[in-house]
Amino acid sequence: MNNIIVTGAAGRMGGRIMVLSKEYPDLRLAGALERKGNEAVGKDIGPLAGMGESGVKVGDSLEAIIGKADVVIDFTAPSAAMQNLEIVSRHGKAMVIGTTGFSKNEIETIRRFAGEIPVVLAPNMSVGVNLLFKVLQDVARVLGDDYDIEIIEAHHRLKKDAPSGTALKMAQVIAEAVHRNLDEVGVYARKGIIGERSGKEIGIQTVRAGDIVGEHTVLFGGLGERIEITHKASSRDTFARGALKAALWITGRRAGLYDMQDVLGLK
Ligand code: NAP
Repeated sequence: MNNIIVTGAAGRMGGRIMVLSKEYPDLRLAGALERKGNEAVGKDIGPLAGMGESGVKVGDSLEAIIGKADVVIDFTAPSAAMQNLEIVSRHGKAMVIGTTGFSKNEIETIRRFAGEIPVVLAPNMSVGVNLLFKVLQDVARVLGDDYDIEIIEAHHRLKKDAPSGTALKMAQVIAEAVHRNLDEVGVYARKGIIGERSGKEIGIQTVRAGDIVGEHTVLFGGLGERIEITHKASSRDTFARGALKAALWITGRRAGLYDMQDVLGLK
């Protein structure tokens, strides 16, 4: 039995992860955490997440309950995730991080902690998107420099980071496949007299509207044709199930930084 603690428990993702954890007989919800002062603290997480009484009360201190966990699943915000990772590492547990929007320095710090404990870090935990990361590599490699590459992502109005972690990972995977440095060729917005498009740039455009769960299109534009590869998430459950699969997979692994391609056996 793997004991999980879910941080960001009152959030959109945290709630679905806790509800769906009931479908996994080898997982047990051992704790739920929220930010100090959040109105969910002290309440039973069950009714808050849309299920019956669970017997698990929302806490506000990971330090206080980390002893109950094998794996911490974190869908919060970068600053919270970094604090949680430090605690998880100090206690020698495992961590699944779905939070997005980390800076380069934070990613380096996560990499350092993953030298001590197993960590799955994935900006998108759906099977479909992780399969796409693989497909995009092949498509970009074959099309090479003859096709302009643009990524368009759309999410709900409440999303805090932009572009999405998924769009950034798609851009990274594609840039590596065509031997470009994303720091040099990434173009994140256009306005005014911008001149002709350079052949090497990779455009990443952000849309925020309504309740869109998550949509990503990668467009390869050539002369006389274009290819568009699109993924649309219609429910957060696809990400939540991925996180739970990762929590099962990570238990007993050696220290290291893993992603969903490792979890899903796509490497
Ligand atoms: P959300 O609804 O805003 O939930 C985040 C939760 O974390 C909130 O309950 C928030 O509490 C809590 N939180 C924020 N800062 C905290 C802190 N310092 N300490 C403790 N708790 C804190 O957001 P969401 O839609 O669930 O998304 C959460 C993260 O997951 C985002 O980074 C998002 O991009 C990412 N995400 C990843 C995937 C994936 O597949 N990897 C899929 C969807 C979303 P307050 O409300 O009090 O701030």
